Amino acid sequence: MRGTEEKGIREGKRGWLEAGRLLGEGMALYFTLRWGGVSPPPFASLNLSLSDGDHPRNVMENRARVAQRLGVELRDVVFMRQVHGTRVCRVFRGGRHRERVVPAADGLFTTRPGLVLAALTADCVPLALGFPFPRGVAMLHAGWRGTINDIAGAALRRLRAMGVSPEEVRAVMGPAIGPCCYAVDEGRALLFVEKYGEESGVVSGDGVSRVDLFRANRINLLRAGLREENIHQVGGCTCCDGDFFSFRREGVTGRQGAFVLLLPGERR
Ligand SMILES: [Zn+2]
Repeated sequence: MRGTEEKGIREGKRGWLEAGRLLGEGMALYFTLRWGGVSPPPFASLNLSLSDGDHPRNVMENRARVAQRLGVELRDVVFMRQVHGTRVCRVFRGGRHRERVVPAADGLFTTRPGLVLAALTADCVPLALGFPFPRGVAMLHAGWRGTINDIAGAALRRLRAMGVSPEEVRAVMGPAIGPCCYAVDEGRALLFVEKYGEESGVVSGDGVSRVDLFRANRINLLRAGLREENIHQVGGCTCCDGDFFSFRREGVTGRQGAFVLLLPGERR
């Protein structure tokens, strides 16, 4: 397997991006592509979302396949009912018989090995965190609202309260819509200019403004105390790359998954 930091490690079309080494030792991080599942178009084929119109039977088969590839039971995977907010929850356990869903949350963190934290996206930024003491991982979902409302900062406040030093935290942003494709109206662009000033990365011209969610989240992370060299990005633009689901490109479509865990047997 070969790969670069920008592209992650891609195991062919049916694979996923693996980026655990960017988070820290004994941590695993996977971003699924859209292939290798059973859903028909427009959800073809590895759609992991139960709330976008696909048949639940397909989604459950797809989730089971992902759990199998992760080497965990589906009940050890924790999803969120994502609401584009900034609520970040600590989780201690999975589900009883099947996967667990934490209501109304856009961020999860845990210190329990083997527990898998998941975010589902189709253009929004999946943002994983890894930290060595206390040892743990987090998964955040940052669309434009979660970005402008600084879910990364909210997560870092929770982690600091637990004794985590921000300068030891590593972050990896997964595939999401890039500034190449993320044209927004003037009102939304203005929100980003107001919050991030000259650093915003908003480019306007011909009545169209483009927003760079990666850059905005990077600024959020830096402001929360992360070191520049500990912030990574893999996977590129979901709207440009047909191997990913993209809401902007397709409208009705599926959701890919981002999964992070502390590997069991790596306790210190
Ligand atoms: Zn693009």
